[in-house]
Amino acid sequence: MPFWYVDYYYVVLVIPAVLLGLWAQYRVTSTFNRYNRIASQRGYTAAQVARSILDENGLYQVQIERVSGNLTDHFDPRSNVVRLSDSVYGNSSLGAIGVAAHEVGHAVQYAQNYAPIKLRNAFVPIANIGSTISIPLILLGLFLYEPLVMVGIVLYGAVAVFQLLTLPVEFNASRRAIATLESHQILYDDEITGAKKVLSAAALTYVAALITSLAQLLRLFLLYGRRRDD
Ligand SMILES: [Zn+2]
Repeated sequence: MPFWYVDYYYVVLVIPAVLLGLWAQYRVTSTFNRYNRIASQRGYTAAQVARSILDENGLYQVQIERVSGNLTDHFDPRSNVVRLSDSVYGNSSLGAIGVAAHEVGHAVQYAQNYAPIKLRNAFVPIANIGSTISIPLILLGLFLYEPLVMVGIVLYGAVAVFQLLTLPVEFNASRRAIATLESHQILYDDEITGAKKVLSAAALTYVAALITSLAQLLRLFLLYGRRRDD
């Protein structure tokens, strides 16, 4: 009965979603690697591109740092730092420039008070609580006090809502990135496709994460949410 046991819904719902997630992860890595080997003709490094887009938007106070790891690039709104990974920072490839422009897109979203990012951030605390205590709550509910099961499932749903709210934020950052790379003539038109493919592959990982949560949510609901009907 506990969650780490394999049940019918686990097999038909969760496992396919997890496989989709693994495939999306593989795809983002392979797509990035492919376009990280193709140098852009104008030859700016990803860090230079990030700096120039930030400055263009008046974000002189946002710093750019180098961070270790592969595809660990992110924007940290608390310290106002765009962190670019080793494989991106000093690289002038189509993949590296695409990733850097995407992360800067997040910095611009914050600076412009882009509504979806605020909405998503408002959901961070409850999503954190949900991902930590929803499963223990459901287990506790099964053995001690049944209403806790539904509370746990609803909290798990909060995680899915957070992932849903993440999608427009990520898509928008990529759209901004591509528009800027085009309008600022950082990449030539035929190079834009490479950057686009990397960002689309990255977007798919967020979609897969949402699908995995929804599959798990549906499974929990089918297994435990309707127990009172029995
Ligand atoms: Zn992003």
